[in-house]
Amino acid sequence: MTLLRYPWHASAWQRLQRSSERRHHALLLKGKQGIGKLAFASTLANAMLCQSPSADGYACGHCISCGWFVQNSHPDYRLLSPEQEDIPETPAASKKPVRKSTQISVTQIRELAGFLELSSHQSHGMRVVVIHPADALNQTSANALLKMLEEPPADVMFILVTSHPQSLLPTIMSRCQQLEMPVPSEQEALAWLEQQGIGEARYWLAYSGGSPLSAAEAAVNNAQVQLVPARLAQGRKLDPFSAAGEFASIGMEAAATAFQKWLYDLVAVTLNTAARYHLRDIAALQSLGKKVDLSALLAFQRQLDEVKRSASHPLNNELQLEHLLLQYSKLFSE
Ligand SMILES: [Zn+2]
Repeated sequence: MTLLRYPWHASAWQRLQRSSERRHHALLLKGKQGIGKLAFASTLANAMLCQSPSADGYACGHCISCGWFVQNSHPDYRLLSPEQEDIPETPAASKKPVRKSTQISVTQIRELAGFLELSSHQSHGMRVVVIHPADALNQTSANALLKMLEEPPADVMFILVTSHPQSLLPTIMSRCQQLEMPVPSEQEALAWLEQQGIGEARYWLAYSGGSPLSAAEAAVNNAQVQLVPARLAQGRKLDPFSAAGEFASIGMEAAATAFQKWLYDLVAVTLNTAARYHLRDIAALQSLGKKVDLSALLAFQRQLDEVKRSASHPLNNELQLEHLLLQYSKLFSE
């Protein structure tokens, strides 16, 4: 496990340390996607389990507990996330994609009950449970968790992490101390991205809506999504068939997201409001905006949103993309 501390977390950390005297047994970290909430939760869990934390509340990094934590083998720590399904058992089967479940199941919560019945492996020690993302709890598992939060075992800290607090049960929310995680300023985010060696940091940060971790991930793993705006900027001259092949190679989900972002900006520019994701393509967007009928564009945008919602549906992706791209190119006059 790599523990990362992000500079924009410092104020939230200090706020939490100041309130530690009256700390709840459950904490909810909420905020935008891609700002390092899970890393903050891990840093906090590590610190709470540490045998000799420093004056500013961080883990010492040297004690036996810190050793276990960094090796991902701390007996008093649990991280609950949606489980992976279809894990291949033989190398031959390894080409089969591993699907990740989107939910935290009630079985996972019940297994947690067993863990909570035991006492800590360290004398007078804490046990810490991180639930990420907490919005992956379904109704049954959320209710099972609620029972634990209502009658919390001694010396147990629950840390719930979410980018969608509105999807949580209000009864769970009310049991938690809530901490709004700060979004870094553009300057902080750019400085951090440049430190990570990410080229074109400004482009990726805008593309990721201001979330530096999402930006870094997109720049490293998804650099080909840059193809999407490059092709879509061709407007009526776009070749839907070759573009569909290129987009399909990026993956339907990533291509559809990039397509949505392009349309968002195209609509924005057509309405004379600010573009958000493609700051270096403003001239191309403006030129396309002059050749498009707004109501047809909005209807197309809704259609794409629907396709996006079914992006994991087993459709023939490339055929569907061809059809969409053909429609897209026809939105523009000569
Ligand atoms: Zn330590």
